[in-house]
Amino acid sequence: MSKVAVNYGEIMRRISLRAEGAGRDPRGIQVIAVTKYVGTERMREAYEAGLVHFGENRSRDALPKMRDLADLPITWHFIGHLQTNKVREVLSHFTFIHSLDRPSLAEEIGRVSEHFGIRAKCFIQVNVSGEETKSGISPDELFPLVRLIREIGNIEVTGLMTMAPLTKEEAVIRPVFRRLRTLRDELLEREGDWMTPQALSMGMSNDFEIAVEEGATHLRIGRALLDGYKS
Ligand SMILES: *Cc1c(COP(=O)(O)O)cnc(C)c1O
Repeated sequence: MSKVAVNYGEIMRRISLRAEGAGRDPRGIQVIAVTKYVGTERMREAYEAGLVHFGENRSRDALPKMRDLADLPITWHFIGHLQTNKVREVLSHFTFIHSLDRPSLAEEIGRVSEHFGIRAKCFIQVNVSGEETKSGISPDELFPLVRLIREIGNIEVTGLMTMAPLTKEEAVIRPVFRRLRTLRDELLEREGDWMTPQALSMGMSNDFEIAVEEGATHLRIGRALLDGYKS
């Protein structure tokens, strides 16, 4: 068995434990393998281990890997900061965008989607923690952005995404994830007539167990899968 397969098995075991503890069905939780650190050889191992959702944060790095792996039925997630001039490229290659975080980007995604004749599947990235270094729309600006997206059309709000502060302190991390969930619930209540933003993209290598307890549906996991291998 590859190290990736061993790591994946261990991660799935931890997800199941926490999900069951929280009264959730672990099958409702999708692991996205964040493969920005590794090349296609390791990515093939990840696929063989059972991973089919892959996340990349730069289209320039991702495109050659996608070409190498074109024989595999992978679903690609764009998780990095998205520049407006990259929207066309990203929408041509990725199924999901996790980083819709501002009105100008929504407008460009709407324009390109209309041109392509698609409805772009996007998570809105929210800066719940309020850290200046983080991208994401502030919780206060979320609802105006959603109303703009409704007017633009051609964008499907899949759900919300956030990143917790880099810390080991659960007391700092947990409220961030919980707030994203309550924002999602408010969205469903207020805007549920035209959209169903069910998904919560939250939880990375160091905090995915807390995210599972707080309702995450998509975990973006890199290092715990792809390095720090146990021998
Ligand atoms: C790199 C990255 C991850 C994965 O982080 P790990 O700590 O390696 O699990 C998740 N989300 C985003 C947006 C990232 O850039």
